[in-house]
Amino acid sequence: MRAITTPGTVLLLAAVLSNVSAARAAIPQKKEYLSEAEADKIRDAGMTGPRIVLYAKFAGDRIKKLQYEFAHMDPGDQKRTDRVNSLINSYAGCIDDAADLLDIGIEKQEDIREGVKALQAQIKEALPYLQDLAAKGPERETYKDNLDDAIEATQDAAKDVEKASKEMAPPPVRRKRLRQETAHVRLSDILRDAPVPVIEAAAAILLAQMYRRRLPAELRDLYRQFALAHSTRRHIARIRRKRARRIAHNPRGASHDLEPMFAALNLEYFDGSLRCPRLGWSARPWRSQFGCFDPSLDQIVMNNRLDREDVPSYAVELILYHEMLHVKHPLRAAACGLQAHSTEFRAEEKRFKQYERARKFLEHVR
Ligand SMILES: [Zn+2]
Repeated sequence: MRAITTPGTVLLLAAVLSNVSAARAAIPQKKEYLSEAEADKIRDAGMTGPRIVLYAKFAGDRIKKLQYEFAHMDPGDQKRTDRVNSLINSYAGCIDDAADLLDIGIEKQEDIREGVKALQAQIKEALPYLQDLAAKGPERETYKDNLDDAIEATQDAAKDVEKASKEMAPPPVRRKRLRQETAHVRLSDILRDAPVPVIEAAAAILLAQMYRRRLPAELRDLYRQFALAHSTRRHIARIRRKRARRIAHNPRGASHDLEPMFAALNLEYFDGSLRCPRLGWSARPWRSQFGCFDPSLDQIVMNNRLDREDVPSYAVELILYHEMLHVKHPLRAAACGLQAHSTEFRAEEKRFKQYERARKFLEHVR
């Protein structure tokens, strides 16, 4: 988003910004995949750069432990699968968090060079190892989902690192921003659903940077607390991953074909007026949702968990119909995940003929 302000109008900027935000509680959560000592180190590191270095190191520790697990396999060991999965998950958590801190560091104009270097090195080492595990790791069917997730997180992080290393060079931001007393401000996705006080704090940070004023500590802490909260990080990672991926048009799944389904629903509920975006199935099963319409990529992606013989077509149709309603009522952000559906939207959704039946069935899809 874009907002314009003139000097000294913190409140105006904050007001403009808060118009686009829906309040969402951001309660800092404990990172369950870090040990107590690791969490302490992250907290004590204070600045973003050193924190990235730490996350990269913690990610590396998980990889080493994984290598150890596979080098010392005891056939009688019942808990190995759990350990391996939890190591892979916590690796992905570290990588996600490190990558997300890149944005924050750039946003706060902190020096994150060391962090970028450390993360880059970690990715370079981990990615081929994980890909190798995916191709020929022992017992790989017992951790495949988490491994795919981790590989994806690593590839996403690699892109973020590359982007960050370009944006890190100190640009003449201040002069450019202040030309003709007009400031152009772009806020990151981090703030899209942030509570209003956080957005106000962000606005104050930006203005403090522009006018080289000291920022009150409580504002800085408020923003930092939000930006570093685990819930925020996961939220961003989730959105970024689902949204950023452009799929190929592949409506024909193994059991369900989305194209004729779309055409029939279009005739029945939209008088045939809806244009057809790209349709396809997710590459792997999602845990959190059945479908997603992304207006920026103009695509509907359906959870491939639904592409099964034992899922009746009316259940798939309800999800597709739901996503088609998002096509009809476009939002700026991807209609994946967290945005609320209006009462009208929900009412329209219930026009679907087998609504209750489909809902009941979907409750039991895992
Ligand atoms: Zn929706």
